[in-house]
Amino acid sequence: MLKPLLASLLTLSVAAPASAATLDANQAQARDIFSHLIAFKTEIGQGQVPVMAKYLADQFRAAGFPDSDIHIIPHGETVAMVVRYRGDGSGGKPIGLMAHMDVVTAKPEDWQRDPFTLVEENGYFYGRGTEDIKSGVTVLAANFIRLKKEHFVPTRDLVIIYTGDEETSQDTMEDLVKNHRDLVDVEYALNTDAGGGELSESGKPLVFGVQTAEKAYASFELTTHNAGGHSSLPRKDNAIYELADALKKVQAYQFPVMWNDTTIASFKALGATTQGKLGEAMRAFAKDPHDEAAAAVLADEPSEVGKTRTTCVATLLRGGHADNALPQSATATINCRIFPGVAIDTVQKALQDQVGSKVEVKLVGKAIASDASPLRPDVMAAVTKAVHAIRPGVAITPIQESGATDGLYFRAVGIPTYGVNGMFMKTSDAFAHGLNERVPVKGFYDDLAYWHVLLTTVAGKSGTK
Ligand SMILES: [Zn+2]
Repeated sequence: MLKPLLASLLTLSVAAPASAATLDANQAQARDIFSHLIAFKTEIGQGQVPVMAKYLADQFRAAGFPDSDIHIIPHGETVAMVVRYRGDGSGGKPIGLMAHMDVVTAKPEDWQRDPFTLVEENGYFYGRGTEDIKSGVTVLAANFIRLKKEHFVPTRDLVIIYTGDEETSQDTMEDLVKNHRDLVDVEYALNTDAGGGELSESGKPLVFGVQTAEKAYASFELTTHNAGGHSSLPRKDNAIYELADALKKVQAYQFPVMWNDTTIASFKALGATTQGKLGEAMRAFAKDPHDEAAAAVLADEPSEVGKTRTTCVATLLRGGHADNALPQSATATINCRIFPGVAIDTVQKALQDQVGSKVEVKLVGKAIASDASPLRPDVMAAVTKAVHAIRPGVAITPIQESGATDGLYFRAVGIPTYGVNGMFMKTSDAFAHGLNERVPVKGFYDDLAYWHVLLTTVAGKSGTK
């Protein structure tokens, strides 16, 4: 998922649209691929991810990639896809390049335009997946095709990793890492599905975030049990009341304040452009993360609280079975976003300690913890060069995102992963997962150019090693 870095509330302005007539051949090809990709209804349950992968495979094949370097790995109704651009090996181990082919379900009747038709209007590309993350799928594919045309030989293999269920189960990424490690065994990965540039509401570039850490995701069910009985004969103990008591304890509990290199660097950068009490707290925390007053101000802000600690919050509730019966059980779901480096067990134990031994605390589904990736100077330098090629001089900062992406699975096995989406957007333009999802047309073509610089830098002869 993608998230804006800053919430800003300034005035609206209209960016100058790039007209289709002025596109060069690479841009025109990328636009064509983009419009095809948007048309595949790659929502869960539609079975369209394999069809889209086949279309992509045809594009890679036509550009000269051998069949033996194009892999489609089935997984239930969906697939993962891995495409290898062979290098001469002089630069070291391969580099992974990530995006996902699936999208969040879109209900056409709620949209102003058909979500599965790429519409260019008023300087924007509209359509489900334009932001998250078919633009990323497109710019990686289009650059592989362009680089082949330019006879570029990378110093190390570049490996595109397209997953097929990032928005739901993330099983395809888990499967790749566990069962197809040879295909995706990379030194580090660059992920299109996180990070990116922030524009002010007047269109001025503010900051570019490199996502080096993300929070793990885990849901727990709290359940209370009781013998029940007839509601005309109420007992003192009651499953619903006991669950309510437990929930109040979870509500009151705050996980300890935590930080890493990314936390400090990101608050330093965000603090420089954030006004008022919040900006003050960011700067104070960056200076001294033991500053409890600063941590308390950050904890009051929904967009910031997750950056300094694990958070757990009640999201679902069920209990009882009849109006006139005492409840035999009651269950609440608690969704946790876990700070990088914290084990899932540690969070479960903290919840259990809060609610007491009479309440059952159970992990539901799978959960995967991951560490923050180190701030590699070579990656930061290459990203800076690529960002400055499209937006000269803009500040670059590492960030930790509170959402989770497929990058978790690489980080969990020690493969550093960097969210480096090249799109610059305004906060007010971010509709990923929502209605009328869109990206600025300029942002799309800049993103395309950015990846060309990035790939030829990380794997070019005179590039960073
Ligand atoms: Zn995404």
